[in-house]
Amino acid sequence: MDDFKKYIEKEPFVSVAAVAQKRDIPVYVIGGYVRDLLLGRPSKDVDFVVVGSGVDFARELAASLGGKTEARYFKNFGTAMLRYKGWELEFVGARKESYRRSSRKPIVENGTLEDDRRRRDFTINALSISLNKNDFGKLYDPFNGLDDLEKKIIRTPLDPDITFSDDPLRMMRAVRFATQLGFSIEENTFAAIKRNRNRISIVSTERITDELNKIILAENPSRGFLLLDESGLLEKIFPEFVRLKGVEVINGKGHKDNFYHTLEVLDNVAKVSDNLWLRWAALLHDIAKPMTKRFDLKTGWTFHGHEFVGAKMVPRIFRKLKLPANEKMRYVQKLVQLHLRPIVLAEEIVTDSAVRRLLFDAGDDIDDLMILCTADITSKNEAKVRRYLKNFELVRRKLKEVEEKDRIRNWQPPVTGEIIMETFGLKPSKTVGDIKTAIREAILDGKIHNSYDEAFRFMLETGESMGLKVVNRKHFPKK
Ligand code: ATP
Repeated sequence: MDDFKKYIEKEPFVSVAAVAQKRDIPVYVIGGYVRDLLLGRPSKDVDFVVVGSGVDFARELAASLGGKTEARYFKNFGTAMLRYKGWELEFVGARKESYRRSSRKPIVENGTLEDDRRRRDFTINALSISLNKNDFGKLYDPFNGLDDLEKKIIRTPLDPDITFSDDPLRMMRAVRFATQLGFSIEENTFAAIKRNRNRISIVSTERITDELNKIILAENPSRGFLLLDESGLLEKIFPEFVRLKGVEVINGKGHKDNFYHTLEVLDNVAKVSDNLWLRWAALLHDIAKPMTKRFDLKTGWTFHGHEFVGAKMVPRIFRKLKLPANEKMRYVQKLVQLHLRPIVLAEEIVTDSAVRRLLFDAGDDIDDLMILCTADITSKNEAKVRRYLKNFELVRRKLKEVEEKDRIRNWQPPVTGEIIMETFGLKPSKTVGDIKTAIREAILDGKIHNSYDEAFRFMLETGESMGLKVVNRKHFPKK
């Protein structure tokens, strides 16, 4: 077992070990760092368990490292965090946790190393490596975590009903690790998640959403959603999403199951983008399909307006999940609202003015919108997929062409309200807004070019047709 020495015979471990040995305090590297080391996923976040005070230990280490650290001490929790040369080192005193049924907040007492290992969530997270003199580099594996790592299994160290009931967030963490690592959840552990699912209600939304976001950011996020669904957790934390499930058949005509379709779209987006918010847009793009679903005898199933209803639902869902109510939310909302536009465009003749309107509405998010729409093509009919992808190429080419010509993407009105007011001697009023809109529409329709001279001339014509008189010529284009 000495072969773990090679991993810790280097900084920052050597310095930690020096303090531990000088003070004769047992210290171990534990948790995710050891797990990821064994999985060949190197990280720079390390958790240390100290038999004694994590805060005192970290203070002493910081002093021994000189001024090269940034330290934060959390006295109440007995933990400390040091940043040192790109490493994030967390020190926690070994502890024992006991839980009451009504609350997630444990009673924390100082404990032995054994107590500390028993409070860990999974066998693969309870592995530790000694930094002490007598057994430096020895791997401690009290619950056969190595075996589970090899078999790719998530399993709780104790009776899973106890582990999950104590801190129900661990159920989300089980799904998260299974998704991130591509592991499966051991049968008894999974059965316990099903049994304890209602207890997720005592966990704060922030912690749940944190785990959900990590699932969404995984390489294959659908895996996590399927596990959340099968365990019954999804219904508890994100019921709107479960509503997408199911296929209704009328007169022999069914529609696609939007739950599985959405997960496919999410996986498709995940293949090409790590943007969490674009992945959220994928998750929510069809969220309003259940409430807009209609059956028409002639055309079959329709979901008219689901993009608008869906965009309206975004703020409510974000609020409920405590996701930020800022520009990220507005970005998701915009993509949900626009997600059909490139498809519609690809189905019809791709005119310059339709392309200009799409560029105007999507602005800088046009590339992300195209990623979402391409990901949305999940038909099993290969000929149909090929046709769509080919049309999308055309849309992309047109988008580029039109953008180069007309610069609509970050469109700013070439003639400002100020200029309109000064030229016609107007006060801020609806008339000014009407003229601005008329100019914008003329540009988007391709009646005039996106240039100052043409927009100004069009403004004069529009103003005069409304009976306005020029009172100031200072903005007239130079000849
Ligand atoms: P990641 O860095 O990817 O989140 P990690 O395993 O390092 O993975 P952390 O949340 O940083 O996860 O936790 C560090 C360690 O603390 C875990 O490996 C585990 O041993 C323990 N741990 C964290 N949260 C819990 C919990 N809710 N219940 C029990 N043990 C936990």
